[in-house]
Amino acid sequence: METKTTGLVLREVNYKESDKILTVLTPEGKLTVKARGARKKESRVAACAQLFAYSELRLSEYRGRTTLTEGETVELFSGLRRDLEAMALGAYFLELAEAVTGEGEDCRDILSLTLNALYALDSLGKPAAVVKPAFELRLMALAGFRPMLDGCAACGKTEPESPRLNVTHGVLHCAACRGELRGGISLPVSAGTLAAMRFVLAAPGKKLFSFSASEETLRELGEVAEAYLHAQLERGFKTLDFYKSLT
Ligand SMILES: [Zn+2]
Repeated sequence: METKTTGLVLREVNYKESDKILTVLTPEGKLTVKARGARKKESRVAACAQLFAYSELRLSEYRGRTTLTEGETVELFSGLRRDLEAMALGAYFLELAEAVTGEGEDCRDILSLTLNALYALDSLGKPAAVVKPAFELRLMALAGFRPMLDGCAACGKTEPESPRLNVTHGVLHCAACRGELRGGISLPVSAGTLAAMRFVLAAPGKKLFSFSASEETLRELGEVAEAYLHAQLERGFKTLDFYKSLT
């Protein structure tokens, strides 16, 4: 069976002499796709079969295996390949997208978020200190781990006093209401960080990375977003370790 879709390559693994096995994020779900001959110079699918490539793909399915038969690149994010730090951060975004998506699931929003984040790093030159936490938080929300930031989870105050985010339970609370929550790790969040987090969860997709904050706020936002993601997904990421070794 032949199908047409668009897809972003999240992972590439060399296979046999000249093939690649790709993990591709499409609007209809994550797919494992074999790209036959993709490592040959004259290959017609070579450009589509590389990390970060976003392409229109023609796929053929036979006995549960999917093969890439033709493709036309839409966006290669070539700027990322010239900047090691941006590329490492982009690779972390791809690994995160892979971690929270599955086969046969509606992945339109996560695909669109990932493309916007790569575009923000590649073409818009947005600072990593903005793009990284915004991507992490928004991705968590789309993946079903949206933090509750409306008010204190214990007393209900819309603007909690000395606010903290309990990253284990994904709720906001006042410092004094800490005892009301059953355990978990809580981190302090300044008013600026809280405003940035609320913006990131509410903003339209294309505006997501269009906020500014002081260096101090961005540092705290970065720590809170990363801690939240790790507490929710309960795992680390090799690509993040690599990115951090560079920065
Ligand atoms: Zn409270």
